[in-house]
Amino acid sequence: MKRADLLVVGGTVVTMDSELHVISDAAIAIVGSRIVAVGPRRDVTGRYSSKEVIDAHGKLIIPGLINGHTHIPMTLFRGLADDLDLQDWLTKYIFPAEAKNVTEEFVRAGTRLGLAEMIRGGTTTYCDMYYFEDAIADETAKAGVRGVLGETIIDFPVADNKTNAEGMAYVEKFVQKWKGHELIVPAIAPHAPYTVSEEHLKAARAFSDRTGAPIVTHISETKREVDDSLKAHGASPVDYLNRIGFLSNKVIAAHMVWPSEEELDLLKKIGVGVVHNPQSNMKLASGVAPVPNMLKRGLLIGLGTDGAASNNDLNMWEEMDTAAKLHKVFSGDPKVLSAQEAFELATIRGAQALHLENEIGSIEKGKRADLVIVERDSLNQIPLYNVYSDLVYATKANDVETVIINGRVVMRDRRLLTLDEAAIKASALVFREKIARSLGGAITAP
Ligand SMILES: [Zn+2]
Repeated sequence: MKRADLLVVGGTVVTMDSELHVISDAAIAIVGSRIVAVGPRRDVTGRYSSKEVIDAHGKLIIPGLINGHTHIPMTLFRGLADDLDLQDWLTKYIFPAEAKNVTEEFVRAGTRLGLAEMIRGGTTTYCDMYYFEDAIADETAKAGVRGVLGETIIDFPVADNKTNAEGMAYVEKFVQKWKGHELIVPAIAPHAPYTVSEEHLKAARAFSDRTGAPIVTHISETKREVDDSLKAHGASPVDYLNRIGFLSNKVIAAHMVWPSEEELDLLKKIGVGVVHNPQSNMKLASGVAPVPNMLKRGLLIGLGTDGAASNNDLNMWEEMDTAAKLHKVFSGDPKVLSAQEAFELATIRGAQALHLENEIGSIEKGKRADLVIVERDSLNQIPLYNVYSDLVYATKANDVETVIINGRVVMRDRRLLTLDEAAIKASALVFREKIARSLGGAITAP
């Protein structure tokens, strides 16, 4: 018998491997941070023993969900201003609120709130873009969560850096500090082609080439962005970014609502990772990304919530459900995006979009042990007929019971083990008062 550090025994494993194996009465053996065996229970427990065993009988074991696009500290702005045009929302509320409130303490408190929410909902990896990303990385590593974390580069003074030179110096230090960390992939995050100059976009690409750091950005979010780009550069955002040599197989681009057919081919050829954000795009009325077409063409595409100010939560279950239904109603074809495909977007395809498919996204021997145990006997789930339909259309974040990231149990039987939930809630309420005061009379009492 070989020794494992952790055995998950019983239950049905939804592997999301290349053949989409679903194994009932299964077991998973974990040594250190990695899966060393997955298969029928008798087979795995006949070869491995462990002092620590988690019983998953009657439950589903799925790969940890991957939230491909967030601005995690914006949890503290959740519900601050809704149901507005993007320009009013940004200029009257979000930018002033950020200018007056974003400090390292704010970022840490908002990150802990977002991490707790994500763990409770079975998200084990997220891709972020914000300020003070070094503090976000610190909180994320302490909570035991995996992150591709991008420090924002933007052409106006922001909370942590006042100039591009300061921003580039910050990101240099940030990437050197976290490179090679087991949980954190440090990244550079030029905000968007309309907020970062050509020179600075080129410098970001050169930085990525030199350090291997991914590039996290927003591309082609709104029709207005495309129209403005055509006026300013004589090219759409994708064509412009390609022309200046910005795009590469290290890029992770959120939104991509308005690409042309030719641009989809280009993104596929280059290997750009794309992240679909259906709820944020719906809430801000940005449009509907051509996801069925992206899937047909084999683009690297995942799924994300965007920041909690434009969603208003970090719930990947809702995001999967919305993705599947949005494309049905938009195309008039209920077959256009299946429950299985929606689940792929949040797992193995999400891993591909983050360029991490060799490490995460499926339950397979050799991959990181990022696993979620999901109840399957809630009133909203029974009776059961099809595992992907159950997961995408019926299961809720509340049905997540236990979460393992990198071989470490971070939530067991719904109890968070790495974060103090009561303290997180108390601190969010303190920040709420501060933020409301900073905006004068703009926020009314609840
Ligand atoms: Zn965003």
